[in-house]
Amino acid sequence: MSERFDAAIIGGGPAGLAATAYLLYARLNVVLISPDLGGKVSYPFALRHVPSHDTVWGAGLVHELAERVTGELEHHIKDTVSRVTRLDDGSYSLALNEGGVVEARTIILCTGARAQRLYVEGEADFWGKGLSYSAISHAPLFANRPVAVIGGGERSITALQILIPLVSHIDYIEARPQPVVDRARAEATYAHPKVTVFRGWEVQQIVGDDFVTGIDLVGVNGEVRSVPIEGIFVQYGLLPNNSAVRDLVDLDANGHIVIDERCATNAPGLFAAGDVTTVYAEQVPVSIGEGAKAGLTAWQYLSAKSVE
Ligand SMILES: Cc1cc2nc3c(=O)[nH]c(=O)nc-3n(C[C@H](O)[C@H](O)[C@H](O)COP(=O)(O)OP(=O)(O)OC[C@H]3O[C@@H](n4cnc5c(N)ncnc54)[C@H](O)[C@@H]3O)c2cc1C
Repeated sequence: MSERFDAAIIGGGPAGLAATAYLLYARLNVVLISPDLGGKVSYPFALRHVPSHDTVWGAGLVHELAERVTGELEHHIKDTVSRVTRLDDGSYSLALNEGGVVEARTIILCTGARAQRLYVEGEADFWGKGLSYSAISHAPLFANRPVAVIGGGERSITALQILIPLVSHIDYIEARPQPVVDRARAEATYAHPKVTVFRGWEVQQIVGDDFVTGIDLVGVNGEVRSVPIEGIFVQYGLLPNNSAVRDLVDLDANGHIVIDERCATNAPGLFAAGDVTTVYAEQVPVSIGEGAKAGLTAWQYLSAKSVE
């Protein structure tokens, strides 16, 4: 028979560590299931005349939480969860990828989200040297420089709007058109004098020396055009890592787990926090706060159950 915990936290990034720290503080019997501790908290970024530095606020706090959790946690399973199933008594069973099963009365899912990549030549070479997947994190570094935004949906429009007041010019390559919430707002953004829109063009390669210097586009008729820029923002929607609970909880149209203001999902006892949820996060400090909130909510849920 598998061991049963009060709470299983899935994912050891900023959200998962904050949730774990609260549940350890509450003296609950917890297990953290995650291949790593820390998640995505180190993003060194450099530009010409801007030395490499880390743009993450709160990374120190994440390292502190990781140290604290490591010191106190008895059960860290370095694996990933493939599937979560709800049992008849309302608790959950978690199947691990490398085999084995864990049971828990509550779950906090903090599995984050992945940026979509272009998969073109030069992309891997220039990541962090002019190429970014997060306008929120890096836009201010590009003041008065020409940049390109590659995307086609809500996240791209947000990036354009953040960048317009800062940069000198934006070439917007709408490589994968997606529905947008407010068409009029999108059209007003595309029509801004600082924005040139490329429709029907695909990115062929990213070029540069030590840093990005340009982007080669190819049109439907095979025409190739080289666009000189100093920065590239790849701004497709993020892909939430929701596969373990996809059948158990409500998701929005982009696959984010729908939560309320206390990080509760529609499944009783199953909570979620950070980039995998509908909460606007995409930043380490927000994920830490969300994870802490989920930990507190799970603690209250277990306390209420104990007097039922
Ligand atoms: C390219 C990029 C650049 C960014 N730059 C910045 C920045 O400069 N500043 C900033 O504040 N934020 C930045 N962010 C955002 C920041 O990284 C996230 O908001 C934050 O890490 C989200 O925390 P999280 O705990 O929700 O998820 P994550 O940090 O993604 O952690 C997810 C955790 O879950 C684990 N996991 C995933 N699937 C499973 C599974 N099935 N089973 C078990 N474990 C699993 C992972 O291994 C990891 O430990 C950036 C994000 C990206 C993609």
